[in-house]
Amino acid sequence: MMTTQTHGFSCACCLPAGFPGGKGVSRRAVLAGLVAAPLLIPGAVRAADGAVFDSMLLSCIDPRMVTPVGDYMFGRGLRGKFSQFVIAGAAIGVVAPQFASWQPAFWDNLGTSIKLHGITRLIAIDHRDCGAAKIAYGEGAVATRALETETHQKAATAFRAEMTKRQPTMKLEIGLMALDGGIEMFV
Ligand SMILES: [Zn+2]
Repeated sequence: MMTTQTHGFSCACCLPAGFPGGKGVSRRAVLAGLVAAPLLIPGAVRAADGAVFDSMLLSCIDPRMVTPVGDYMFGRGLRGKFSQFVIAGAAIGVVAPQFASWQPAFWDNLGTSIKLHGITRLIAIDHRDCGAAKIAYGEGAVATRALETETHQKAATAFRAEMTKRQPTMKLEIGLMALDGGIEMFV
């Protein structure tokens, strides 16, 4: 079965009241129970095959990582089932003080994907030889493989703490990918 969306929720006129920028449905209608006040907005987009969406991917802008990160997600059977937020440094981009001005955009987008797509998991994939890690913490922080691992581990820990505070029910996986696509997961 095909479903048709006129504007989708990218258009402010279709956003329910109470949703940032939205004015399409009155608050009175929401309060009257005419419109469910939802975790997932009624009419939110679905996968083409009707499947429930699963995750948001958080990955780095590095062009070398586009293919291996995609291969990793597809290899897990998540093709077409994840939203994606791309930011320099991935998890580092979301927690490093150097990039503080970017960070509200991530949290707002995560909240939007929860509402629109019903995602329940965030998969963050940092990577080795990441230029953003050097900008954020200095060359010395990634000077050896061990230091690089430690730097990403610290960012992962900070990211997990922030996620727990902001979206406590969100499942979180954080990995560090090598340029060849091999991945180690932080726990
Ligand atoms: Zn990077």
